[in-house]
Amino acid sequence: MSTARLPVPADPITTAPVKEDLNSFRIAMRQFDYAAEKCGLEAGLCEVLRRPRRALSLSLPVKMDDGSIRVFEGFRVQHNSARGPCKGGIRYHPNVTFDEVRALATWMTWKCAIVNIPFGGAKGGIVCDPHKLSHNELERLTRRYAYEISPLIGPDKDIPAPDVYTDAQVMAWIMDTYSMTHGSSAPGVVTGKPLFLGGSLGRNEATARGCLFTVRAACKELGINLSGATVAIQGFGNAGSIAAQLLAKDGAKVIAVSDSRAGVLDRAGLNVEELLIFKAKTGSVLGFPSAEVISSEALIELQCDILIPAALENQITMQNAERVKARIVAEAANGPTTPDADLLLHNRGIMVIPDVLANAGGVTVSYFEWVQDLQELFWDEDDVNRRLERVMTKAFADVHATATKYSVELRTGAYILAIDRVANAMRTRGIWP
Ligand code: GLU
Repeated sequence: MSTARLPVPADPITTAPVKEDLNSFRIAMRQFDYAAEKCGLEAGLCEVLRRPRRALSLSLPVKMDDGSIRVFEGFRVQHNSARGPCKGGIRYHPNVTFDEVRALATWMTWKCAIVNIPFGGAKGGIVCDPHKLSHNELERLTRRYAYEISPLIGPDKDIPAPDVYTDAQVMAWIMDTYSMTHGSSAPGVVTGKPLFLGGSLGRNEATARGCLFTVRAACKELGINLSGATVAIQGFGNAGSIAAQLLAKDGAKVIAVSDSRAGVLDRAGLNVEELLIFKAKTGSVLGFPSAEVISSEALIELQCDILIPAALENQITMQNAERVKARIVAEAANGPTTPDADLLLHNRGIMVIPDVLANAGGVTVSYFEWVQDLQELFWDEDDVNRRLERVMTKAFADVHATATKYSVELRTGAYILAIDRVANAMRTRGIWP
């Protein structure tokens, strides 16, 4: 029997709660085990789907600007390709670990299945602080990494995309390195490219826009009027900052945002457009005039209607879940809530829109970009956004219906829906040989 959702066990001697396991890969397995048991997935497929199919671990030597050589650690993990080529971003961060990338690859498999796009899951990462590298060092590191993962990637094999601290420029270097070593230009090898290199209109905003569509659906479900609703956003990168803009356009009151340095709070509502200009100029939201300073941790516990964790993993844990006051938690980040915190939020009546649904807009428009690249025919932005809305609204409805059918929270509902689709593909294809 799975113990996935049982209350946190107490230490028999001190009776203090046992320290929560924050290992992302074990968390991903625990979430999967719980859902697999709920939907009665056969043991064999359970064993297959718990683990990634393939993982590459790399040492990446880079000649630094001062002439010295530094070796960086990198990974590319492919979790499953039963429904199509593997798909998933590449993360550059000093704290990246192999287990984190394995978890992120696993989550990509479920995410693609939930929005029903024909991809499996993958993820990559390099242990580095891109802010401490020069433009040229970053290019050399990226190209070396792209070269090393070349045997695994390709438009019909595995298609990388941006993730934390990677962007359209990094994708352009990967596309170029792959193309130069394969003898022809291959825009379909990565998504999230610059527009003039085969990128898609709407891709940059897609994670945030997708999140907005799920928040709208959740508000409708709970009878919350988004216009006038208060929102707190942890993380002011691609997902968080654009979510703030889009929610403000919908009439929501963005009362707090934070970035990696600290946060700002204005209960009357922040001027998001001015905040974006301020951040672009100074590099941080910190110091934004007429707002109170707030820590990223305190932001999580603010009185608000909608809380959007849009930064990194393990932000809502047993340490703070009891004090979360939002009615909806929309996970724009991957893995921001631990399983125990998840249960606690659910028991407190807080609706969590899980990452595999809430942030699936990014990979959905990545799919649109890939389709446009293969067709060499490009859509206008309205077309992209309309299709995205259709996909996200349907995914929310499918997840909600599955959760209701199995009497579980939305995350487990999302997993059951995804597991069913992936397992169906695997059963029908069969295990080779
Ligand atoms: N890195 C994004 C995610 O976690 C996007 C992945 C993609 O577009 O392939 O969903």
